[in-house]
Amino acid sequence: MSQPPVVTRFAPSPTGFLHIGGARTALFNWLFARANGGRFLLRIEDTDRARSTEEATQAIFAGLDWLGLDHDGEAISQAARADRHAEVAREMLAAGTAYKCFSTQEEIESFRETARQEGRSTLFESPWRDADPATHPDAPYALRVKAPREGETVIEDKVQGQVRVRNDQLDDMVILRSDGSPTYMLAVVVDDHDMGVTHVIRGDDHLNNAARQMTVYQAMGWPAPVWAHIPLIHGADGKKLSKRHGALGVEEYREMGFPSPAMRNYLTRLGWSHGDDEVFTTEQAVEWFSLDGIGKSPARLDLKKLESISGHH
Ligand code: GLU
Repeated sequence: MSQPPVVTRFAPSPTGFLHIGGARTALFNWLFARANGGRFLLRIEDTDRARSTEEATQAIFAGLDWLGLDHDGEAISQAARADRHAEVAREMLAAGTAYKCFSTQEEIESFRETARQEGRSTLFESPWRDADPATHPDAPYALRVKAPREGETVIEDKVQGQVRVRNDQLDDMVILRSDGSPTYMLAVVVDDHDMGVTHVIRGDDHLNNAARQMTVYQAMGWPAPVWAHIPLIHGADGKKLSKRHGALGVEEYREMGFPSPAMRNYLTRLGWSHGDDEVFTTEQAVEWFSLDGIGKSPARLDLKKLESISGHH
């Protein structure tokens, strides 16, 4: 059977500058698409209206532009697709893979409090999951996905290997809030499906989300993408990246005068390897790139290496 053409995407939330980790994610997606004659799409995840800014969106465009990571087609605004997300939530309700939950915030809190006191899992179990619709009150409700309770959800991850999550660790997550707005977790799945994304390459801080997102893929009978969760970049000391490790914004590296091809080379080496090759052109990277070359342990930020690579470009 022939494989569908590769479609990757970069899906940043526009809440600040283009972070070096985000740039590396974008670059890996771009390289993988270009290496396979596929498409690289850009989706701005601007659903959090309070935190998303136009300035941040522009900073993302500028950063990608400087790095030469051109995307195919128009950038997509996730917020603009809210009606489509809600439509899918309604389809799930009609199919019985989602249900109306009338529990109030206070009831959810009190469930959790009792569970904590009794040493049980605090994942909310809605009493409405199997309720007869005839007993439904005339009150605001959220839509929740009916997550499987038994068995396991298995993620075959190209970087992490096989990741197994017990289904009793997955909650019936909210897909549509009581004000009718879709949640982020639903939006991501619907968008990836509608955009025809075949490979989701992103930071491993999203690995837990993958298992939860699978519940939507399964509910809709959609094929799940190939997953590749990349270890986050660490500081030179092996600790979680923070401001004290140096520049975190791509913009800062541009201002420091590093050439864009060197930055691409350096970012490619942050977590991906091809034998002992340290210095290479973008064309070589496109030729060589594969998901198998992504390491399992976090790469470390190393300005000295960037300087040395820059000397060769
Ligand atoms: N918007 C998410 C972020 O910026 C990425 C979500 C995804 O790649 O699925 O972390």
